[in-house]
Amino acid sequence: MITAEEALCIVLGAARRLDPVILPIENALGRILAEDVRGREPLPPYRASVKDGYAVIASDGPGEYPVITELRAGNDGSGVAVIPGTVAYVTTGGPIPNGANAVVQVEDTEEIEEKSGGLRRIRVLRMATEGLHIRPVGSDIETDVTVLKSGERIGPAELGLLATIGIMTVKVYPTPTVAVLSTGDEIVEPATQNLHGGQIRDSNRSMLIASSLQQDCKIVDLGIVPDSEEHIDKVLSDAFSSGIDILLTSGGVSMGDRDFVKPILKKKGTILFDKISMKPGKPLTFAEVSVQTREDTISKKALAFGLPGNPVSCLVCFHLFVVPAIRQLSGWDHPFPQRVQARICHPIRADPSRAEFHRAIIQWAANDGSGHPGFVAESTGNQASSRLLSMKSANSLLELPAVDSVIAPGTLVSAVLISDIVGFPPGKLEQVKVPITSSVDHAHKATGPLVAKVAILTVSDTVSSGEGPDRSGPRAISVVNSMSEKLGGATVVATSVVPDELDRIKSTLLQWCDVDRVDLILTLGGTGFTPRDVTPEATKAVLEKEANGLIFVMLKESLKVTPTAMLSRAAAGIRGSTLIINMPGNPNAVAECMDALAPALKHGLRQIRGEKREKHPRHVPHADSKPGDDWERSFQMAHHGHGCSC
Ligand code: AMP
Ligand code: MG
Repeated sequence: MITAEEALCIVLGAARRLDPVILPIENALGRILAEDVRGREPLPPYRASVKDGYAVIASDGPGEYPVITELRAGNDGSGVAVIPGTVAYVTTGGPIPNGANAVVQVEDTEEIEEKSGGLRRIRVLRMATEGLHIRPVGSDIETDVTVLKSGERIGPAELGLLATIGIMTVKVYPTPTVAVLSTGDEIVEPATQNLHGGQIRDSNRSMLIASSLQQDCKIVDLGIVPDSEEHIDKVLSDAFSSGIDILLTSGGVSMGDRDFVKPILKKKGTILFDKISMKPGKPLTFAEVSVQTREDTISKKALAFGLPGNPVSCLVCFHLFVVPAIRQLSGWDHPFPQRVQARICHPIRADPSRAEFHRAIIQWAANDGSGHPGFVAESTGNQASSRLLSMKSANSLLELPAVDSVIAPGTLVSAVLISDIVGFPPGKLEQVKVPITSSVDHAHKATGPLVAKVAILTVSDTVSSGEGPDRSGPRAISVVNSMSEKLGGATVVATSVVPDELDRIKSTLLQWCDVDRVDLILTLGGTGFTPRDVTPEATKAVLEKEANGLIFVMLKESLKVTPTAMLSRAAAGIRGSTLIINMPGNPNAVAECMDALAPALKHGLRQIRGEKREKHPRHVPHADSKPGDDWERSFQMAHHGHGCSC
């Protein structure tokens, strides 16, 4: 089964930008520009005053001056001039007369009672520097400069810019036309008041139409059809030939004997996937259908999503796959869902076999439990895929790895944003307590005796900025979990993601070593040659002792897979009672390196704790080794076998 990330790649690979259209600017809000827009005239088109005050010749300095003219916003200033020893009254936005080179604001002047020659007089109290309070011609927008670029999204500010430069129509990508169909013998209109036995009101169509409208799509409501092959086939044929861009069906994609959507899509087009290893949303089916509209002679491709019938699965799949597809068709450069990192408030049991998109409400907290501000995530409760209440108020989907354990409170997880994050009601901020150290206790209670506490730090600008998912972190968690026994009952008690920044990496390492006192920290990524790679430097800065043997073993293993492994600058060593190991960022490499280290890691961790001071396996005769201590035996065998004396 493919992963959700692979499925999204397939969807985006099939989604092609729609052909651009020309729209009047009043209809262009939210659209993506398909051309650069240049300003033809400078803004301001004349030298304009920034203040209400007096246009002066700066070198005249403080003193008394006659006000020889008045230029208010809207007056034509061409042909009007001041000469040395005179000033002109100007208002904000008014033209600066020729000869003047500064404006003294009203607050820095005084009115003088007596007039001279019928002219008003003022006293300038401050020296003005040349150019003071004047917007030169073109200072806001130069002539013939690109004001908006192709690919930019038109929001209110962009509309304002188009208006200010006098552009009335723009070339933009249109939004797709989306057809929505509910399938199921049991599904009836929401208005049905007296449900007969076995009937269910249609919630999916309302949700899918509303969600598509939120993405500015044009909607074709195909209604409800029963689980009848002929019926569904006919409705879909009509929809495709009417020229829709996206078809959304819900229901009828599971394994039941009346689930007809998949075979019909297969008949009409090409199924690109029909299952994803994710929870909820496993049965999502995606197909590409070539359609020839009645009007057009050229055939085009429509995208068809066979969404699962369970309302939560249906809406989760819409957010994760349909929204990016709509965005791609609409011309977005970055159609991916936005992500942030959030600390979970309470323990969450993960699904052992499928990555889960756990509905949650995330909010900003002054202290997210780590002593720093950050997002905290609260689950919406029972996550059954039929329980639409778990979607209510959810503003994010927490991306939980497929692990057979409880994810401890305080753990930082990636969260896909599905709506706005609203602020806390006053007073609630202080109530949020996610003590990261107590996450260790929770993990202890939840998973039995805790021998080695492991923390995993993903170091990546991309993951940290939310531009990409964290693939190495979840992989490392499952590697640690799968090797838990070999490592002496290791449990992942904390994970975090930081950008490739020395201070951020260092402070997380220090927190985990000195405050949380974890046994083992695995850092993932940032060990190569690119200018941003600084994980080894941050690690060495906190290490008290280096452990280069571990690096040697990982390098040897990685070189078997790729010669570029020699470019790793990884560090490893000990601070206090914590072993820190830099691992490569590649998700597969983490598993390889951990496998290579496994024979000695448990022993090393015990030594650091002072539990194995006397007993180094090299000196232990085979007969003395404890039964069941497999790694120790293999360690001894490896040493004796190779005659190694390290
Ligand atoms: P299906 O995917 O057709 O096997 O449906 C899975 C579950 O979702 C069943 O319990 C259906 O009754 C329910 N379901 C299917 N379509 C809808 C809908 N449009 N609105 C509400 N529930 C639905
Ligand atoms: Mg059904």
